[in-house]
Amino acid sequence: MFIAFEGGDGVGKSTQLALLAEQLRARGDDVVVTREPGDSRIGPQVRALVLDGDDLDPRAEALLFAADRADHVASVVRPALRRGAVVLVDRYVDSSVAYQGVGRGLGVDEVATISEFATAGLQPDLTVLLDIDEPTRRARVERQGHADRIEREPGELHEQVRRAFLARAAAAPERYLVVDAGRAEDVVAAEIAAAVDKVRS
Ligand code: C5P
Repeated sequence: MFIAFEGGDGVGKSTQLALLAEQLRARGDDVVVTREPGDSRIGPQVRALVLDGDDLDPRAEALLFAADRADHVASVVRPALRRGAVVLVDRYVDSSVAYQGVGRGLGVDEVATISEFATAGLQPDLTVLLDIDEPTRRARVERQGHADRIEREPGELHEQVRRAFLARAAAAPERYLVVDAGRAEDVVAAEIAAAVDKVRS
């Protein structure tokens, strides 16, 4: 089973991913927790290029994320799924569509096509979209104090990204769980766990 966690920075993806992993492991599941960009073999270099590079051309940015994804799917995700593991990924195709397709203006269809090529069509069984309003999200990121190049962009980009995520979810509601991530961690976690159980049954 393949589950993607999506949403802006600071919405709590890694916390919720860890809580779900803990719960599934307690039940005896083989769980792989992984993230994009970063956990492919070329991930550390791609992260450094994309997140620290100034003035990176948006197309170059999109292709670097796609290269990372292609290697990640081939070397981490597919092998884990083949052996029967549950794979929880922190960001996947929707992040590219939202940030590069909409945020950078490269086009939803164009970026979706690049991602389709990169993944050879591998789609999550469920995508959990953690949603939060922009002022709350920004306040959380500022409290955490580790803004990267993309995070330092104006709020408008992040508003566009949020709308893009919500539009992706609305277009295929059977494959998404949209969660109000402004609530307490345990409430959000319970909602996610219930949705995962439903997909499995
Ligand atoms: O979620 P994480 O902190 O690993 O993401 C790193 C940065 O890359 C974030 O600022 C995120 O907004 C950005 N990103 C992006 N396009 C993607 C994936 C991540 O702009 N496809």
